[in-house]
Amino acid sequence: MNKFTAQTEEMLNQLARLVQYNSERGEATEDKPFGEGPAACLAEGLKIAEEMGFRTKNLDNYCGYAEMGEGPEIIGIAAHLDIVPAGDGWDSAPFTLTRKGDKVYGRGVSDDKGAVIASLYAMKAVKDSGIPMHKRVRLLMGCNEETGSRCMAYYNEHEEPITCGFTPDGNFPGIYGEKGMLAMVARSKNTKILEIQGGFVSNAVCHKCHVVIPGGEVRKDALEAALAKTPLVSFSVEVTEGRITIEAQGVSAHASTPQLGVNAAGYTLQALAEAGFKDDFVEFYNEHIGVTNDGAGIGLKVEDEFGPLTLNNGIVGMKDGQIFATIDIRFPVTYKVDQLRMLCARHLEEDQGSIEILGGGEPLFFPPDSDLVTKLVSAYRDVTGDYEHEPEVIGGGTYAKSIPGIIAFGCEFPGADNHIHDANESLPVEELGLQAEIYQKAIENLLA
Ligand SMILES: [Zn+2]
Repeated sequence: MNKFTAQTEEMLNQLARLVQYNSERGEATEDKPFGEGPAACLAEGLKIAEEMGFRTKNLDNYCGYAEMGEGPEIIGIAAHLDIVPAGDGWDSAPFTLTRKGDKVYGRGVSDDKGAVIASLYAMKAVKDSGIPMHKRVRLLMGCNEETGSRCMAYYNEHEEPITCGFTPDGNFPGIYGEKGMLAMVARSKNTKILEIQGGFVSNAVCHKCHVVIPGGEVRKDALEAALAKTPLVSFSVEVTEGRITIEAQGVSAHASTPQLGVNAAGYTLQALAEAGFKDDFVEFYNEHIGVTNDGAGIGLKVEDEFGPLTLNNGIVGMKDGQIFATIDIRFPVTYKVDQLRMLCARHLEEDQGSIEILGGGEPLFFPPDSDLVTKLVSAYRDVTGDYEHEPEVIGGGTYAKSIPGIIAFGCEFPGADNHIHDANESLPVEELGLQAEIYQKAIENLLA
């Protein structure tokens, strides 16, 4: 039971109206920068908001907002209506809200369409309570969170800034820090490797790797023994005329938590060296990237009281005889991009290989005892009675990095696994009302 239990059926009907749209990014048209799906879902979201009595505005199909209250300050809630592709493996139709037992299923129910509905009902409850509103409350509905957050860049260019607020697109009890990012690519200068291919995106641990080296470079049994010592899930070594082919299977994980994965490329190259394979790039990789995930090999083993730097190699490949390996670094919230550039500068250019810095993004950090963090966390604690879980720092990025003045707050509860970005994305029915109750309290705290 929660304060919204009596309204939960109605909330689910509204959620079904949003879930029916496949709002993954599509082909841009003149007036629909992210294609038909996100624009149609935004129109529906704004319609629901209007029916509930809010002022609305559509910002050229980049995003839109629902607003209430008066005054110069704006409490912002930044949620999103776009989704990642539904993919295969569903037990129900991904674009039909389906209830089974105490959960509902559908793409976007937890990320982040449910949060749009919970936020609207929270706003309505604040409005109906009659408490004085000397500030505006504005729910932003973004259409491009999953593929670049250009929606929020557009908002920043065209609208009044948000004074403070939250994005309901992370975890409770709140996320007060998001690590900074550095993207790099390592390249070979000289290598005997004939083929190398592994990984599928730069922001996930390289889960699989295929390597071919010339025959006679290592003994099969020595290589197998070296591979067997690694945490690789499986591997095979095949020796054919003039070629040694290795297939390795690791474990994928998000780049912000590479320690949860097993890097197939990293362990394959480590085993090759151990088996006696002498190669410039293999030496360069093992020394500068390796399998430790801590950046030690390029002078970046740093940490602060909020967490360590992590380094992930996501993709390895070969182009015109040159090997490349992508590097995704998430650095501690109290560091700056320029500091990191200085720390690694003298490690990037060697005779055996090179590393290029492609770009960086500064971290986000609100002290845990700041006004914003304490107001939000206390809303969560007052409603749930959960004083055990603490707000945290994450390696991922949310809208909080795109909109000054906000942090991620909910909508997932501690320990939840709602299969976000996966088949059978779900939302416990009870949690939808609970989210609304927490957001109502959060808005009241920020209005005060
Ligand atoms: Zn999301």
